[in-house]
Amino acid sequence: MEHTTSTERLQGVRNAVARACREAGRKAEDVTLVAVSKTFPAEEMTPVLEAGQRVFGENRVQEAQAKWPALKAQWPDVELHLIGPLQSNKAREAVELFDVIHTVDRPKIAAALAVEMARQGRHPKLFVQVNTGVEPQKAGILPQDADAFIAECRERHGLTIAGLMCIPPVEAVPDPHFALLEKIAARNGLHELSMGMSADFPAAIRQGATLVRVGSAIFGHR
Ligand SMILES: *Cc1c(COP(=O)(O)O)cnc(C)c1O
Repeated sequence: MEHTTSTERLQGVRNAVARACREAGRKAEDVTLVAVSKTFPAEEMTPVLEAGQRVFGENRVQEAQAKWPALKAQWPDVELHLIGPLQSNKAREAVELFDVIHTVDRPKIAAALAVEMARQGRHPKLFVQVNTGVEPQKAGILPQDADAFIAECRERHGLTIAGLMCIPPVEAVPDPHFALLEKIAARNGLHELSMGMSADFPAAIRQGATLVRVGSAIFGHR
C-alpha cells in the first residue's frame, strides 16, 4: 500500500472486481465500482478521473458541495453517489448534487426527497438503507420494517426505489448480512444491491452486489 499510487490501487480493485465476477459467474459490467472519496481533497480525484473512474461516493452533503461542482465542470459525466446519512433539511442540496442516494431510511427523508424531486424535476436514483445488524447507532430501516417502508416510499410518496443498501457491523462476518439484504430486495421486487466495501467487496459480489462502495483500497487510509 505505502508505495503504490491511487491509480495503481484502482487498477487492483478493478481486477479484483472482475475476478470476483468471474468466480461468481457474473458479468463484470453488472457490478458498478463506486470510488468512495470522502475526506480526500479534490486534487486527489484528478489521477483517478484521468484513469477513467467516473462514479464517486461521498458521505456528507457539505463536503461534496465543496469538492465536486468544479470537478464536474471539468468531467461532466461524473456520477455522484450519496452514501452517508441524509438530514431532511439537506434534501434540497442532495437532490441538486447527487445522481444516486443510497441512504433513504425513514419516512421524513422519503417525504422530503419526494417534494424536492418534484420541485426540481431532478430524479436521483434511490436506495433504501437497511440496518441489517440492528445496531442502535447505525442508520437504516430495521429489517422487520423494510417491506412496509418500501411500500410507503412507493405508494405514499410516489418514489421509485432502485434497490437496497447495507453496512454490516464492523466485527461481523458480512455474508449473512449480504444474504439478508438480497432476500429483502428479492421479495420486494428490487434488483440492485449496494453492498461491499474495501474489506469485503468480493464476498458482496458473490452474494449479488450490483454496486460496491470502495474507499480506502483506492485512496488509502483516512
Ligand atoms: C466510507 C464508506 C465506505 C468505504 O469504506 P472503505 O472501507 O474505505 O472501503 C463505504 N460505504 C459507506 C457507507 C461509507 O461511509
